[in-house]
Amino acid sequence: MDYRDHVQIVDDWPKEGVQFKDITPLMNNGKAFKTAVDEIVAYAHKKDIDLVVGPEARGFIIGCPVSYALEVGFAPVRKEGKLPREVVKVDYGLEYGQNVLTIHQDAIKPGERVLITDDLLATGGTIEATIQLVEQLGGIVVGCAFLIELSYLKGMEKLEGYDVLTLMRY
Ligand code: 5GP
Repeated sequence: MDYRDHVQIVDDWPKEGVQFKDITPLMNNGKAFKTAVDEIVAYAHKKDIDLVVGPEARGFIIGCPVSYALEVGFAPVRKEGKLPREVVKVDYGLEYGQNVLTIHQDAIKPGERVLITDDLLATGGTIEATIQLVEQLGGIVVGCAFLIELSYLKGMEKLEGYDVLTLMRY
């Protein structure tokens, strides 16, 4: 399966100079979406995962079907002010801006083996912050899975020492 056939590149969005990789056509194609999810599930199967964690919003889209297939839970990582109970939080830099990410403080039990999912690795700020949240709660990040890596933004450098799966690279 060439997933690239299902990614639409949108010039100058959300701001000038950015070439946004739109994955909604991939999600819109049942066969492509299932094949991509199955590939991540096969990767995760070898890792004895206890929990899937994904940052909003596209990390949910990838992470939830993976957690369902693995029969493990899913914990959402969200922007500040979105989760209703006690959270831990971390500041992070984004490809276009600055933000705070949070997770419920009881979302992960110490020692749980966590797979983190997101649609795309750009500068690595989001995944780095998500890893920090998981580790603050005592979780062990045993894998990170993305549909897309933008290799020119060098996010992989922030993931040294972690096991990473990416289905496409630009
Ligand atoms: P990073 O924190 O690695 O710089 O940016 C990755 C985050 O921003 C991911 O959560 C991803 O959803 C979003 N993102 C940044 N650029 C793109 C893009 O071109 N396409 C998509 N689909 N998401 C992007």
